[in-house]
Amino acid sequence: MRDFVLEFIRKIPSLVYPEGAQVQAALDSVRGVRKVCDLIEARAEDPHCPHCGATRIHKHGIRSRLQRYKCVSCRKTFNMLTGTPLARLRRKDLWLQNAECLLCSFVLRQIGSKLHIDKNTAFRWRHRFSSWLYEDTPPVLEGIIEADETYFRISQKGCRHIDRKPHKRGGDNSSPGLSKKQVCVLTACDRSQHSIEFITGLGPVKGKWLDLMLTNRIAPDAIMVTDGLKSYSHFCQKVHIQHVIVNNKLRNGGCYHIQHINACHSRIKGWINHHFRGVATKYLNHYLWWRHELENKHITSNIQLFQAVLC
Ligand SMILES: [Zn+2]
Repeated sequence: MRDFVLEFIRKIPSLVYPEGAQVQAALDSVRGVRKVCDLIEARAEDPHCPHCGATRIHKHGIRSRLQRYKCVSCRKTFNMLTGTPLARLRRKDLWLQNAECLLCSFVLRQIGSKLHIDKNTAFRWRHRFSSWLYEDTPPVLEGIIEADETYFRISQKGCRHIDRKPHKRGGDNSSPGLSKKQVCVLTACDRSQHSIEFITGLGPVKGKWLDLMLTNRIAPDAIMVTDGLKSYSHFCQKVHIQHVIVNNKLRNGGCYHIQHINACHSRIKGWINHHFRGVATKYLNHYLWWRHELENKHITSNIQLFQAVLC
């Protein structure tokens, strides 16, 4: 058997298409799996049982290329993937490539053709790879906080049954910010580059949403800078923080302005329009979170993204 393998390896350089390409793909696949397994095993620095939290565990063989452990307390077995969103997911050889596709904001069709997987598989993988987004709690905003809203047209993209007449190119945007046909997204950010984005429903932002989403996320000595919508004034009075109203068009200088938040809105809209040509309203929250995490966590490589999924 060993002689056969050595003979095969010697012949690899002389192989021509398609055999050469197939061998190359197989080797890449093995390398991909090894890299993924190394990253997963790197989590074993402080191993403990994911079922009961006990630290008294011992090694219990290897399965699916990963070290298996057995807990002395609860007698259950586990590996370093147990309890993560990727537990029991197949095709480890493609995980890093999938993370790369997500980082590049590829649409499902592109991911499917690049990884040679079904579009539905790509959808399920994207869900698994992005489930960590929702567990990450937003920070407390401090100092000068800019808050403003931006609007997205209601989109039924991908729906099989659309409950409206087809509209003309460009749509009905005649009353931006006030139309009930638009979804309001409120964004607040401080000068330490912490930000919070959330959907507040249709039409102008309502006070109850500010209470619900911002009350515990604003430092008591913060100063909120807005364009003067009444909901913000009421909110600031309620939580006893200073409220500064600025007229964005006047650019009256000083440190009180909402330029950062406007730039943030441009980046979000640019990203959504450039990569996805608009997204379905029911998935808008997901994309907001995704954008937030990539930007705030400074994730620039597929390995960083993969490690974030495992944490
Ligand atoms: Zn246990």
